[in-house]
Amino acid sequence: MSDIINILPDSVANQIAAGEVVDRPASAVKELLENAYDAGATRIQLIVKDAGRTLIQVIDNGCGMSDSDARICFERHATSKIHKADDLFAIHTMGFRGEALASIAAIAQVEMKSKLHDSELGTHILIEGSEVKEQTSCACPNGTSIAVKNLFFNVPARRNFLKRDSIELSHIEEIFKRVALVNYQTDYSFHSNGKLLYDLHTGNFAERISQLFGNSRRDQLCPVNEQTDIANIMGYVSKPEYVRKTRGEQYLFVNHRFIKHPALSAAIEKAYADVIPDRHYPTYFIHISIDPSRIDVNIHPTKTEVKFIDESALFSILRAATRKAIGQFSLATELQFNPIEEVDFPPAPKGYIPRQPQIHYNPAYNPFGSTSSHKGSSNNSGTGMSPHADPKWKSFFDIPSPTPGSDELPATGQTTIEGSTSPKTVGTDFALPQSAPCLQLDKSHIVSVLPSGLLVVDQQAAHERILFERLSNRKAPVQSQQLLFPVNCQFTPADADMFNEIVPDLKAYGFEIGAIGQTTFVVTATPTDVKESELQAFFDQILVDYKSAMIQKFNNRSQSLCRSLAHQMAVKKGTVLQQAEMQQLIADLFCCQSPTVSPTGKKTMAILSPEQLISQ
Ligand code: ADP
Ligand code: MG
Repeated sequence: MSDIINILPDSVANQIAAGEVVDRPASAVKELLENAYDAGATRIQLIVKDAGRTLIQVIDNGCGMSDSDARICFERHATSKIHKADDLFAIHTMGFRGEALASIAAIAQVEMKSKLHDSELGTHILIEGSEVKEQTSCACPNGTSIAVKNLFFNVPARRNFLKRDSIELSHIEEIFKRVALVNYQTDYSFHSNGKLLYDLHTGNFAERISQLFGNSRRDQLCPVNEQTDIANIMGYVSKPEYVRKTRGEQYLFVNHRFIKHPALSAAIEKAYADVIPDRHYPTYFIHISIDPSRIDVNIHPTKTEVKFIDESALFSILRAATRKAIGQFSLATELQFNPIEEVDFPPAPKGYIPRQPQIHYNPAYNPFGSTSSHKGSSNNSGTGMSPHADPKWKSFFDIPSPTPGSDELPATGQTTIEGSTSPKTVGTDFALPQSAPCLQLDKSHIVSVLPSGLLVVDQQAAHERILFERLSNRKAPVQSQQLLFPVNCQFTPADADMFNEIVPDLKAYGFEIGAIGQTTFVVTATPTDVKESELQAFFDQILVDYKSAMIQKFNNRSQSLCRSLAHQMAVKKGTVLQQAEMQQLIADLFCCQSPTVSPTGKKTMAILSPEQLISQ
């Protein structure tokens, strides 16, 4: 049999390698931004068109390249960042594998202009599918401009695999944030389809966080700072009261590189274990500076995985540093050691002389005798009272049929629950316990009775469910109130774009919103339970949830918006509820289609039968 093995041409080998390095426009953006940073640039511009499909351009004022380097940088394994195997354990740059430009040039049309600072002229090079089409001298500014056009032009399968522009753009935006966040001593700008989305100026870490995520983050974060022999840790973590239900803004960097490290992320989250509710997650922006010889970044082509020699020590340091930060800069200790409220005795009336309590008993009572023996007893307070002796007890179980028109809540002067109306239809098998008395436990749970047993309702989860169904059915519009003074809300240009997308939905839910300029919106009316003083934070959170729903490829946009609105508008744990409000909330919950879980999957209620209670 003749020989059948041949060495693949470079263009094919590069295309295969590109599959790992460049899987979507955002990964090409990452490689180009990292190259610009490695070139020592102080100003880096990112320009994309059609979410990177037609153009990704990165312009920097870094060191630039000579004529021959400009040609050779597109070869596989071409790098100026390492020379020998040992260098792999002393990496100070973002890149070192020498495969990004070769990969990109294999699957796109690339035009590059580059000039060394001490050269008169620069180089202009055109390369397409790994083939150099043209290389000439040209006049150009110091540094490098590289334009990647028609990404995946020769890999139709990949091109067709791309998601719609808004999703691809949000991936690019995420990469941009990861790079720009930690490199806060570099100026960055980001244009998409001719529109400036970000214009970031040199500053400190906190300023960069505000520039990228909005000013409201400042009040929500506390600083972390720890210098140890193993590593230095600096950055910001959320105060316990600002944790979220999604792991949205969690950024961990090692030596300026964004990394994903489940164990170290867990170290940060563990620091919050007893100060935040279950399934809530902190926001964090943490930078670890460590001797490069103590880590290995050469694990995966995307270089977001890192192995640490001192992982367990680092875990403890990170957890302790976070714990210290939340203890020092927030109310963590108070939250943790919330004292049990004292029993509130009313003051004794004037002239009242305390007397020793008397015990009354019925000598005729025989628990084993016939019921008539105690039925007739006139003095049954204290011991021996059977609940069945009191005919009023029965009325606790009386279930009146819902009466239309009884949906007004008495004015209480306390929190009124938005979205509460009396049930008109019953969508479940449960009977309505509308008039059963309710008790509030720990300002978070409502306890009442059903014919089948004791009902315990989580007030916040239940209200989220009610609001969510109300909002998503749009059957009973949420009540809206005009604001006395309109409130202006401001967003970054990218967020403003996204906010514009959801304004029509917000209007349908009772907000009145108009735009002033490109990034400011004026709010003139809101649903009744939205606090105007917290509107900015309210919308910031809506945008965070909206983005994370998009990134998680959650396609039902309006449903995720309803979920986020319901979560924010719902009555919170810690709110005192009046009797009528509790009854109304339970009645409304029982009208829901899925009354037993909140829109985020949390249990809203438990029903404990007398048998279950006794056997506890
Ligand atoms: P790596 O970054 O891993 O070295 P790349 O394929 O990304 O590999 O780049 C190859 C080489 O091209 C780099 O090592 C660097 O010398 C050069 N290079 C790439 N981009 C730039 C740039 N923007 N400015 C200067 N040199 C660059
Ligand atoms: Mg590189």
